[in-house]
Amino acid sequence: MEMTTKIDNWDESLGINDFNTDDKPKAAEENQLTTKIENINLSAGDSSASVSTTNGTTTELTADENVSTADLSYMRKVLRNKLLHTKNNVEVHRSKPDNPLYSVKSFEELRLPEELLKGLYDMGFSAPSKIQETALPLLLANPPINLIAQSQSGTGKTAAFVLASLCRVEPAERTPQVIVMSPTYELAIQTGEVAKQMAKHIPQITFRFGVRGENIQRGEQIADHVIIGTPGKLMDWIIKFKAFDVKKVKVFILDEADVMIDTQGHRHQSIRIQRSLPETCQMMLFSATYDKPVMDFAEQVIKEPVIIKLKREEESLENINQYYVYCNNEIEKYNALANIFGTISMGQAFIFCHTKASAARLAQQLRKDGHSVGLISGELSVEERTLALQRFREGQERVLIATNVMARGIDVEQVTVVVNYDLPINVETREVDKETYLHRIGRTGRFGKEGLAINFVDSPKTFGFITDLEIHFGRKILKLDATDIDEIEKINQE
Ligand code: ADP
Repeated sequence: MEMTTKIDNWDESLGINDFNTDDKPKAAEENQLTTKIENINLSAGDSSASVSTTNGTTTELTADENVSTADLSYMRKVLRNKLLHTKNNVEVHRSKPDNPLYSVKSFEELRLPEELLKGLYDMGFSAPSKIQETALPLLLANPPINLIAQSQSGTGKTAAFVLASLCRVEPAERTPQVIVMSPTYELAIQTGEVAKQMAKHIPQITFRFGVRGENIQRGEQIADHVIIGTPGKLMDWIIKFKAFDVKKVKVFILDEADVMIDTQGHRHQSIRIQRSLPETCQMMLFSATYDKPVMDFAEQVIKEPVIIKLKREEESLENINQYYVYCNNEIEKYNALANIFGTISMGQAFIFCHTKASAARLAQQLRKDGHSVGLISGELSVEERTLALQRFREGQERVLIATNVMARGIDVEQVTVVVNYDLPINVETREVDKETYLHRIGRTGRFGKEGLAINFVDSPKTFGFITDLEIHFGRKILKLDATDIDEIEKINQE
């Protein structure tokens, strides 16, 4: 990205005053905002806080309130186009002595149907992922074993259950044999696409989406083998319309259980559907997290399960060079950013802002100055967000500007530079949010790669945050003079 031009004057249309008086919302919006803030569900990753700025005023820092766990999970899926490798090992709990507890190192060992093996190779899969090594022998065993599997997003859970369930389909029997239940429309479509791709050499297997917009004719009996849908629609089809014989279902998969229980009504619907299925049906549940509510739910739905867990890959600041840039106002901040991007050569970069408004303004100004940047914030529709994420993933834009809340959905390894245009703030303590800081930048320096984190500081308070981070992580954050091109060039060579 070329960005050497400094700006001395902000475009009036951007509202320079707006900028200098920080992100304080206009009076009319304020009441609405207060109500929203009161209603924020912190566990869903929303945040708001206030922090003192250079001129002693208080900035109301509100992030996107309308980002759900489901949205975040979907964003992770869209952004991730390859496997997340992990060094951790899978833990197996509650297995019976006669269960297959070996792990496979190749797909060939699983004696899969030739067509499925071909499908896997076409998708570029050469060997099972860590979770697949252990999960697949269990899932393919006879008699079938129920499974609860937890591992972070991107580790190959979807591919595992799609593969295992396709192995159980009898194409000649024209009735639903596999039900995959996803928490949202988007996630269901995504999983369905993976299943279709994997089964592409077995065209006899047919799929049906049980999601909004998909309807069945009165009295219709569904003859497709695999149904992928959301709980509400599936409940209608199974319980209200009796659109197929549930007693013939061989595999039931509850995907993204942590997202499922976060959605009103889904827990109850999932249990009702599960209860209608035959005793012989193999049940599987997948989740990216394993906190108590998820595990309680999992065990309510999945009877006598084997439980497998793969610990999250620890994020660390080991390979990351951290800097801070002190700026006195927004113009200095923007100029510093322009200098940095104009000087350093980089792969892809994230810029994190605290509010939708400041993220949008920054994107607008950068675009106005001729730079191609992407923006994601809670304001965008799912489609717009997906498009922005895809463009970034494909490298069409090398810079993605995101708000705090959006940051939680983001997980991209090719990113080598992270700019905290605003440091993350913990809503309750009003201090720097160390966990989010680590999550934002801990991904840049993975697998021996060098990462670069640049933090913008614009008040004594936020400067104090830098010291807090240094003490907490025991790593130095060096000062960077962003007006000095030579100095910026030096960090580039490190
Ligand atoms: P999860 O469901 O845990 O989020 P996915 O099954 O969606 O993980 O896999 C994440 C990414 O890795 C996808 O792009 C998928 O195509 C790819 N993937 C999954 N399994 C393998 C494998 N064995 N080899 C190579 N790529 C894989």
